[in-house]
Amino acid sequence: MTVHAIRRDFELFRSDDPPVYFDNSATTQKPDFVIKAAEDFYNSSNANPLRGLYDLAIDATDRYEDARKTVASFIGAGDPCEIVFTRNTTESLNLVAECISSAVEIKEGDEIVLTVSEHHSNLLPWQRLSKRTGAKLVFIEPDMTGAISDEEIGKKITDRTRLVSVAHVSNVWGRENPVRKIITVAKSVGAITVIDGAQATAHMRVDVSALGCDFYAFSGHKMLAPMGIGVLYGKKALLEKMDPFMLGGEMIEYVTREDATFAEIPHKFEAGTVNAGGAAGLATACRYISMTGFNYISDQENRVTEFLIKEMEKLPEVTVYGSKDPSEHHGIISFNIKDCHPHDVASILNDDHICVRAGHHCAQPLMQYMGIGSCVRASVYAYNTLDEAQRFIECISRVRKVLGY
Ligand code: PMP
Repeated sequence: MTVHAIRRDFELFRSDDPPVYFDNSATTQKPDFVIKAAEDFYNSSNANPLRGLYDLAIDATDRYEDARKTVASFIGAGDPCEIVFTRNTTESLNLVAECISSAVEIKEGDEIVLTVSEHHSNLLPWQRLSKRTGAKLVFIEPDMTGAISDEEIGKKITDRTRLVSVAHVSNVWGRENPVRKIITVAKSVGAITVIDGAQATAHMRVDVSALGCDFYAFSGHKMLAPMGIGVLYGKKALLEKMDPFMLGGEMIEYVTREDATFAEIPHKFEAGTVNAGGAAGLATACRYISMTGFNYISDQENRVTEFLIKEMEKLPEVTVYGSKDPSEHHGIISFNIKDCHPHDVASILNDDHICVRAGHHCAQPLMQYMGIGSCVRASVYAYNTLDEAQRFIECISRVRKVLGY
């Protein structure tokens, strides 16, 4: 596999003067295969899945359920019924936070453990659950490179902990959290474990069975798939116990004027017409990533990240956040340039057709913890090149001058 071979699979990169796309943590580009899979569904299998009895609808249902099987095997889930299709990570996490107390008692005096670096999607749903139940939110505090010590885990996860929800990889530091350790400690006190895998599934092999977590949430669009399709993996026994999230068509068994019984999992959690085209695209994205190989993906990400970090370290006005080790960044480099507002930096980069994200990255408590209001984030993926990294470095070297310093 070579980076140039991969780039040929993307329309954007085949164009005459493609932008340097360094905003992959926000969303990745989509390869032709993925777009074609979604298109094929609408061209040749389009009917409302799970409803019709005619051949076309059966084909639509088969494609949708095949996609579920592909996703289950991609993340090592034991049974496809443990894969709930949602819109995105945010919806998956909201589903758990809204429905978990129908399966597990959460009350005043209990504690819900998060880290201080969570994305708002893995914070606000728990804030609401905490307000509703009286359970207290407790925060694991990493050091300033994003590392979480065993001691901190042991201090924050206690007999009072009922639920632990943490990101697999931080969307600001890019660092992988010690989720195996966190899950083991959480299990030892009988707590439910939820992993926000939004920044992990495109970059590393995830095996939910080996991890042993109760829930794992992720988004298709951050792993080469279309927007609007996401996944919640949940252990069968828990999903079966939980009340449904949304109510309506598709998720029922029998309805009377006054009452209803619900379909089996996962359909109990998939109310309304599903995103079958998106699911077909996601299944193809899983196959594309497997075919590309995580070894290649992380090698290329590390090559580009290492170059970027080394060159940025040579610029005294640039502060790079997180680990000094490029392999601990999973393609994410958050930084600031002395005296320059991140929005100005992003806008100057945009003038050179370089796409980065600037702001608080939906992690305001982390910005407060780091003592910064915001930062710039460059995030690379397997299709980014060293030439692009060189263009980026040349541009950020000029930023202060452009701003008149
Ligand atoms: N968690 C993390 C760690 C993320 O990076 C993101 C996306 N930036 C989300 C959750 C939310 O993902 P989505 O917008 O696809 O729901």
